[in-house]
Amino acid sequence: MAYQKGDLIYEGKAKRLYAVKGEPDLVWQEFKDSLTAFNAQKKGAFENKGSVNRDITSLVFRFLSERGVGSHWVADVGDREQVTRRLAMLKVEVVVRNTLAGSTAKKFNLAEGTPLEVPLTEFYYKDDALNDPFISDEQALMLKVAPTREDLDELKRTALDVNRGLIEFFGAVGLDLIDFKIEFGRDSSGGPGGGRIMLADEITPDSCRLWDRVTREKMDKDRFRRDLGGVKESYEKVRAMLHEAWGSKV
Ligand code: UDP
Repeated sequence: MAYQKGDLIYEGKAKRLYAVKGEPDLVWQEFKDSLTAFNAQKKGAFENKGSVNRDITSLVFRFLSERGVGSHWVADVGDREQVTRRLAMLKVEVVVRNTLAGSTAKKFNLAEGTPLEVPLTEFYYKDDALNDPFISDEQALMLKVAPTREDLDELKRTALDVNRGLIEFFGAVGLDLIDFKIEFGRDSSGGPGGGRIMLADEITPDSCRLWDRVTREKMDKDRFRRDLGGVKESYEKVRAMLHEAWGSKV
């Protein structure tokens, strides 16, 4: 089916969102070449980043769908674009950690790289002006990021299903999944506020920490955050390895 790009709806830090002509339940997402960190205080870009991240996220979503975790992904279009379901996004970021890293390692004064016996799931309130603060389950209910405790439980359950899938997906190419962030939206079934919760946004080296299992080399946005160099090369290597392992299977 040939989708047609409509008007620009919204421009975010890493993506532009357009309507799809004649398809009110779909949106057209364009992945930009920009890279941002620390709530967009640090800005950068590299050529073809949009295309690399589009390819990675669509492979991930296709893989997860075969493992029973549906997402907003509908089809790839062009070389850096995707048609996805139109969802009302929940104002929450769900983080899963298998190994302590970054600010959380610092927060508890534990070494980056400390493995966790049981994966942690955490909620962050999606609000740039507040710098996306950590929130407890009760705070998530107070802020109505999801209507009920059952919804929160579903988010955590799905996040752990995603975690199991991603460990296999990245593990197949020798990458350890340290942590990741995912976002969810609701479709329009069942009226306003009552739709099905679905995995959305993206899953890429922007939103996951990925370490080479043997060398422990970082293969994700920490290369940009921490000025480690080789950002483009590592994103491209991740795409190439994933394509080789999964391209013909999902
Ligand atoms: N993450 C993200 N967007 C955010 C915050 C975090 O994609 O706005 C991802 C991040 O790349 C990492 C995981 O979520 O893979 C956990 O991030 P953490 O809370 O440790 O953030 P830090 O403050 O250490 O960057």
